[in-house]
Amino acid sequence: MANGIETRPYIVGPVTYLLLSKASDDAPAGFAPLSRLEDVLPVYVQLLEKLAAAGASWIQFDEPALVVDQDTPAAEIEAAVARAYEVLSGAAKRPQILVSTPYGALDGQLGTLAATNIDALHIDAFKGAVPSAAALAGLGNKTLVAGVVDGHNIWRNDLAVSAGKLDELKAAAGRIAVSTSTSAQHVPHDVTEETQLSGELRSWLAFADQKAVEVRILADYVADPASAKAAIDEASAVIAARATAAGVHREDVRARTGALTGADFSRSAYEVREAAQEEALHLPPLPTTTIGSFPQTSEIRSARARNNRGDLTNEQYEQLMKDEIKRVVDLQEELGYDVLVHGEPERNDMVQYFAENLEGVDVTVHGWVQSYGSRCTRPSILWGDVTRSAPITVKWAEYAQSLTNKPMKGMLTGPVTILAWSFVRDDQPLGETANQVGLALRDEIADLEAAGIKIIQVDEPALRELLPLRKADHSAYLKWSVDSFRLATAGVADATQIHTHLCYSEFGVIIDAIDGLDADVTSIEAARSRMEVVHDLESHGFGRGVGPGVYDIHSPRVPGEQEVTELLATAVKHVPSRQLWVNPDCGLKTRGYAETEESLRNLVKATRTVRAGLLEAAK
Ligand code: GLN
Ligand code: ZN
Repeated sequence: MANGIETRPYIVGPVTYLLLSKASDDAPAGFAPLSRLEDVLPVYVQLLEKLAAAGASWIQFDEPALVVDQDTPAAEIEAAVARAYEVLSGAAKRPQILVSTPYGALDGQLGTLAATNIDALHIDAFKGAVPSAAALAGLGNKTLVAGVVDGHNIWRNDLAVSAGKLDELKAAAGRIAVSTSTSAQHVPHDVTEETQLSGELRSWLAFADQKAVEVRILADYVADPASAKAAIDEASAVIAARATAAGVHREDVRARTGALTGADFSRSAYEVREAAQEEALHLPPLPTTTIGSFPQTSEIRSARARNNRGDLTNEQYEQLMKDEIKRVVDLQEELGYDVLVHGEPERNDMVQYFAENLEGVDVTVHGWVQSYGSRCTRPSILWGDVTRSAPITVKWAEYAQSLTNKPMKGMLTGPVTILAWSFVRDDQPLGETANQVGLALRDEIADLEAAGIKIIQVDEPALRELLPLRKADHSAYLKWSVDSFRLATAGVADATQIHTHLCYSEFGVIIDAIDGLDADVTSIEAARSRMEVVHDLESHGFGRGVGPGVYDIHSPRVPGEQEVTELLATAVKHVPSRQLWVNPDCGLKTRGYAETEESLRNLVKATRTVRAGLLEAAK
């Protein structure tokens, strides 16, 4: 304001704030945070009054929880929405109120919000359908802010389609404003900076700066349709060109996905595989392993930066990575691990590394977006039909295996996670794209197997993350996501052991899907919740190998031997010991060597204690 720029403060709305809150550990059983609405509202009212006094003319309340199916009954949420915005709009002195509902269709709650005295309502008209004329009529004089430009992905807007939606909305609602469907925090700034991308690919994309222009054009369209004609025609021409561009639709890829049959998605019965793997691997009870990455030291990072700048030749860089792999293998040998990893030093990021090595995917240089908190990520752009033109990880795995007689795990990122952490093409169902990635990984797995790698881990930490917001969409998602993993992994021999790894998850919700992956061994995050997941595994009757994490790698804290022994003892009580593996919660790339070594040492000591106890009990 002081600089003459009018801004609109925004804050999470009271209903979403409470719906997404967790009850504290000492709350009475059945306590629902939403029941505290009356305590929270006066604080919001105070805020409104302070903002009004400070000169704000608008405030935005974000209510994304209203587009997600909640466990709380819809009628209760409706009552809370009605009450909250009755109180807030009744504040004695307040800015105008905009309620924003991004990420999906608002459905029933639109009517509830329309009946309150707020001043404007933002809907996601990109992901959500255009609401019915009757629902829109209920808005009366309120401004409808139509989010017709996708705030969540980077494709150039089909302005003709958006204009059509705006025509419908304008016919039914009183006042219309135009915006993106979500805040622009999910997309990078400016596509013109990505000069290393082909001009063709760049012409298909819109980052935040380009989206702002699209919103402006569409707002002009609402005022005067003729003013936007040239821009709309140009967008249509670019989108038509994209549909027929080389690499977007490849006959060789389509022929392969089109010819898939049920057999491509399934392996032999687990009992058969289990016996073959026992014979091939000879692992002790409670085998110890890690999730894949070892600390990415500043030496590794600087070697990669120097190689990118051309200050290190590829040969020099590869030699440094090999030295690092040897150090990691020797360390695991010394610590007494049973199944080793190569440590992933050559990978900048678990998705970007594969994106750089697959056809149909490109990476950006400046395309940073917030991942969570202060963490940022640079998603890849999956724009075309995906293929693998050459082996990606095989030479590293082969080298690592040559250094040890213990089994070396091959390490891959799964199809769902590659999709979840990239900007994915919007011109075909996600399941089709996932199968293409699945086939590329299947080829990689076949090559790893042929190179003598007996255990292959396919990470799917993002399996839960892509779960749709509406329950009605869950089963279709779980079907294609699980299928793509199975497609990637089902081509191996019975004796080859497939592992998967998941984290960031409330596993209860997706335990059927985890089971459906049909991996021989699944490692999951569990240390922070002190093994809560073993109860889900037990009640589900999970029957294959499982490694609930016993070392929380999210902090530099070293878990003591006693602590790990206790966690393992809990696991053994709920999961048959022949299924149990011992491993950290996740990869070690963000950790330093000092704490990693000490922690990994404690894991082995604790495992030996628990193994001895099991032997004793068996006598
Ligand atoms: N294999 C990966 C690693 O260890 C898995 C990372 C993840 O789950 N996010 O780094
Ligand atoms: Zn993980």
